[in-house]
Amino acid sequence: MEKIKCLIIGSGPAGYTAAIYASRANLEPVLYTGLQMGGQLTTTTEIDNFPGYPTGTTGNEMMEDLRKQADRFGTDIRFGMVTSVDFSSKPHKVTIDEDTVIEADSVIISTGATARYLGLESEEKYKGMGVSACATCDGFFYRGKDVAVVGGGDTACEEAHYLAGLCNKVYLIVRKDFLRASKAMQEKVFNTKNIEVLFEHNTKELFGDDGVEGARLIKRKGEDDEQQVEIKIDGFFLAIGHTPNSHVFSDFINTDKEGYIITEGTSTKTNVEGVFAAGDIMDPVYRQAITSAGSGCRAAMDAERYLGEL
Ligand code: FAD
Ligand code: NAP
Repeated sequence: MEKIKCLIIGSGPAGYTAAIYASRANLEPVLYTGLQMGGQLTTTTEIDNFPGYPTGTTGNEMMEDLRKQADRFGTDIRFGMVTSVDFSSKPHKVTIDEDTVIEADSVIISTGATARYLGLESEEKYKGMGVSACATCDGFFYRGKDVAVVGGGDTACEEAHYLAGLCNKVYLIVRKDFLRASKAMQEKVFNTKNIEVLFEHNTKELFGDDGVEGARLIKRKGEDDEQQVEIKIDGFFLAIGHTPNSHVFSDFINTDKEGYIITEGTSTKTNVEGVFAAGDIMDPVYRQAITSAGSGCRAAMDAERYLGEL
């Protein structure tokens, strides 16, 4: 059985940054990319808010740059999916693709979180062409245009408010007749003139020729007064929550009720000694490439200290 010092799971900004730091610290890390090599950013086009790219870059280019940087310092990057773990004893055992077992003195989990989508066929069709799950990332491209945000929580309200500062008009599509968001966030929404809240609306489909041009909604679905509503929009933003990719670790690693891995204080330590978590998987709040990269760095430094004390 292969025995290594440091195993990194995931190839997003957190995983690759952890790999750069861990390689430079001589931890000889092995990184498993998972099915989505490069992580969530490979699902988007322009990245304008990652420091160090004065004229912007694309998600694919940035992740390729990070991969090359990790590779330059000797990270062993492998394609494969962690399918089960056994953290009950040391070294930790991690199974790849259901057949290869690796023993690792330290493990950095950076498996990210996946934005939830409604599951509509038309939503899939327009991903990257008007459909986005990140207003902070993509809102800029809809300046002066009309857009819609789906969701009634804090994220949806925050994103609607953010987009209202850039866009001509923002529809907030809420399935219930109330917002789940905090009162303060609700007030922000209600006090912003160019946000229109569409309560009790569900999205039926999106339409458009070369990208999103509008959405067909159903008002008061299933009620006697059910109505079809059409809105003209260029952008459709999902803010209905994220699903952290932590299920494979859940027998051993403590998570919150949504599945985000709980880390100790300001460190990246999990409840299992020698196992660290970085990036969106342990961050229900910021969920940005730069914050993920930052915690990847911290996880590698935490792992280095831990291994130094063994
Ligand atoms: P991820 O990028 O989610 O990477 C997770 C990695 O884990 C993947 O490589 C996956 O294959 C791997 N993985 C998952 N499960 C397993 C497993 N069982 N075994 C092995 N590997 C596994 N942020 C910005 O700062 N700027 C932007 O412009 C921006 N645009 C965005 C646009 C979109 C459409 C989306 C969805 C997000 C955007 N974000 C943006 C947010 C940003 O993508 C995330 O914050 C960041 O990618 C999180 O990095 P991460 O390394 O934690 O995880
Ligand atoms: P959330 O609180 O779980 O809200 C998700 C919203 O999406 C809910 O309104 C939900 O509707 C709606 N939704 C879910 N599935 C849907 C579907 N299929 N169709 C239509 N609507 C759907 O998630 P969140 O807003 O991302 O917040 C997550 C956590 O982060 C919360 O604890 C939140 O307080 C916190 N947060 C805080 C801040 C802040 O304080 N500034 C900012 C952002 C997030 P229902 O209400 O009908 O279930």
